[in-house]
Amino acid sequence: MPRKKIAAGNWKMNTSLEEGLQITRTIANANKDTDVNIVLAVPFTHLKTIIDMSLNVPNLFVAAQNCSQHKNGAYTGEISAEMLASLHIPYCVIGHSERRIYHNESDEQIATKASLLLENNIEVIFCCGESLEIRKANNHIEFVSQQIKNGLFHLNGDQIKNITIAYEPIWAIGTGETATEIEAEEMHSAIRSLIQSNYGKDNADQMSIVYGGSVKPNNSKSLFNQQNIDGGLVGGASLKSNDFIEIINSF
Ligand code: PEP
Repeated sequence: MPRKKIAAGNWKMNTSLEEGLQITRTIANANKDTDVNIVLAVPFTHLKTIIDMSLNVPNLFVAAQNCSQHKNGAYTGEISAEMLASLHIPYCVIGHSERRIYHNESDEQIATKASLLLENNIEVIFCCGESLEIRKANNHIEFVSQQIKNGLFHLNGDQIKNITIAYEPIWAIGTGETATEIEAEEMHSAIRSLIQSNYGKDNADQMSIVYGGSVKPNNSKSLFNQQNIDGGLVGGASLKSNDFIEIINSF
């Protein structure tokens, strides 16, 4: 089975509901026949409305940007995996560097979130990536491998099938600086080998590994052409419908 091609947009804490609906409508209308899975990671407040709209578009999926590491209980302001499941949300992003850095999320918490989401039949987009300091010290592959081991390797072979890994070097997020396709491919290939070493060749071959970090219409094609890059997790450019549509069409 060929790997899923994924163009995921991460809106972060942007857009009013009306603006979000407008972006979703434009993207849905432009991409009725694509074989790319388009995933929109939207704010919690938009989930129900946008998922209702996405149900009429076969290749359009909605993601939450985070979920709680707790199952339920006295955690004011948190949203559980079970709550997302009750809205039939198909995907959730976890471990984004903005959550790891601004909310001190640990690998252990992210590992727990992965388990809770999978128990609730929600596919996981697991983010990992190194800082500039780590890259300059040439420890990037070791660092990202450790993040993946800590965050995912408690899962079994059936569970790992429902994971997409998003490699997002922190130094490339929102900075306009992108990893070259050679740098990105080097990491993606290392990630696939790591998955193969623990989960076997079939699981590794079928896992979608997407790149994130200043993906734009002018660099998406060369990134997506790489053997081990199965798409992108796109922040800034996913808020501009025309740019995002160009990115989707660059597969
Ligand atoms: C992101 O938020 O995951 C991201 C990659 O952002 P940007 O595309 O803006 O760098």
